[in-house]
Amino acid sequence: MSHGVYKTAIVGGGASGIITAIELTRGENALNGEEVVILEGLPRIGKKLIATGNGQGNLTNANLSTQNYYGDKGFLHAFFASNPDLEQYFYSLGIPLTCDEEGRKYPLSKQASAVLDILMARLIFCKVNIFTEYKIDKIKLNNGIFEISSGSKKVRAERVVLACGGKAGSNFGTDGSSYSLATNFGHGLTELFPSLVQLKCEREKIKGLKGLKESVVLSSIVNGERLKTAKGEILFTDYGVSGNAVFYISPSVVNKNNAILNVEFLPEYTIAELETMLQDKKENAPFIENGDLLCGLLNKRIGKAVLDTCSDFSPKSVAYALKNFKLSVLGTLGFDVAQVTRGGIKTDKINPLSMHSKNEKSLYIVGEMLDVDGDCGGYNLTFAFLSGIKAANSIKASF
Ligand SMILES: Cc1cc2nc3c(=O)[nH]c(=O)nc-3n(C[C@H](O)[C@H](O)[C@H](O)COP(=O)(O)OP(=O)(O)OC[C@H]3O[C@@H](n4cnc5c(N)ncnc54)[C@H](O)[C@@H]3O)c2cc1C
Repeated sequence: MSHGVYKTAIVGGGASGIITAIELTRGENALNGEEVVILEGLPRIGKKLIATGNGQGNLTNANLSTQNYYGDKGFLHAFFASNPDLEQYFYSLGIPLTCDEEGRKYPLSKQASAVLDILMARLIFCKVNIFTEYKIDKIKLNNGIFEISSGSKKVRAERVVLACGGKAGSNFGTDGSSYSLATNFGHGLTELFPSLVQLKCEREKIKGLKGLKESVVLSSIVNGERLKTAKGEILFTDYGVSGNAVFYISPSVVNKNNAILNVEFLPEYTIAELETMLQDKKENAPFIENGDLLCGLLNKRIGKAVLDTCSDFSPKSVAYALKNFKLSVLGTLGFDVAQVTRGGIKTDKINPLSMHSKNEKSLYIVGEMLDVDGDCGGYNLTFAFLSGIKAANSIKASF
C-alpha cells in the first residue's frame, strides 16, 4: 500500500470477493496481498459459502451452459465463451473436487467449511487485509482514487470490486441494500425476485399433506408450455411446496404469472403400467373401496388427495391423475429464505470479459450483485467464482 491507498479494495467477502482476492495474489502480475483489502459488513467473511449445498458446498457443475443462467443472453454468451476449469482451479488451491451422477461438483470431503478454511488460509498466507464489520455505505471517486466509507471509517483504493451479493438470504449479509453502491455510478438495476426458493401454492388440494415427502417428477408449466422438469423430492408444507425438485424448477416460475406445477407421482412407472397395475388391483382385490384405490401404492394421505382430483375411479382416470397432479403457483416464500436473487445490476454497462464497469473503468462488479442467476446445481457459485477470476486478471493487467 502506498500513501494509504490500496491497489484494490473488494467490497464483500463472499464467494466472488474471496476468489477475486486470491486470484489477485497469484500468477502473472500478482499483487502483493498487503495491497489488497476485503471489506466485509459481517463479523466474518464467507458466512454464506459454508451454508452452500446443505453444508457440502456444491461449488460448480460438470455441465455448464448458458441455458442454466438467467440474464442478458448476449452478456452470458460472451462471459461463458472462455473460462478456466474450476475443478482444476480448486485443485491448484488444494481443494480436489468430486462429481456426482448429476454433474454437481463438491469438495471431496463434502464440507463447505473446509473450502472456506483453505481459502482463508490462502488469504492469510498472502497477507491479504480483511476488515470485518465494515459495511460500506458510500464510495466516491476523487482524483482517480476511490474513497470507500463505512460510517466514519474510510479506506482508499485505486481499484474497487463490488462483490456485495444480492437480496436473497439477509442473514448472510445480503439484504439488497448495497445495489446503491453500483447505481451511484450510473448502473441500472432490474426488478428483483427471489429464486431457488420454496413456492406458495393453492392450498385446497394439499390440505392435510403438511410434512409429507415424495419422490416425484416435477414440471413447471406457464401458458401451456412446459418450462422445466426435475426429478427429486417434493415436500408438502402449510404454504405450498419445498424440496429439491421445487428448488430445481423454481427459477423458471419466480417471475411469471399463472405458473402451474405438474406433479408426477410414482416416477418409476409409466402411465400405462400404472393403469395395468390399478386394473389388476381392482380385479385381485375387489374388496378395496374406490377411495382406498391408491392405498399401498402411495402415502395414504397423498393418495386421497390425488383421488380427489379424479373424474371417476377407473384405472385410466386414476393413472392419469397420478401423473397430472396440478397446483397453481401463488408466489414464493420470499427473499429471506431464497438462495439466489433473480435480477440485479444490469449487465449492459459491464464488460463480460473483464467485469469492469463501462462507466468507470477502475470499478468492477462481480457475482450475484449482477443481473445473472443460475439454476440449482452449483451454477451460482460458478458465476461468482468465474466473475471474480475475470475481474482479478483484468485488474492485475491494468497496473
Ligand atoms: C443457503 C444457501 C445455499 C446455497 N447453496 C449453493 C450451492 O450449493 N451452490 C451454488 O452454486 N450456489 C449456492 N447458493 C448461492 C450462492 O451461495 C451465491 O449465489 C453466491 O454466494 C454469490 O456469491 P457473491 O460473492 O456474489 O455474494 P455472497 O456470497 O452473497 O457474498 C456477498 C458478501 O458481501 C457482503 N456485503 C454485502 N453488502 C456489503 C457492503 N455494503 N459492505 C461490505 N460487505 C457487504 C455480505 O455480507 C456477503 O458476505 C446458496 C445460497 C444460499 C443462501
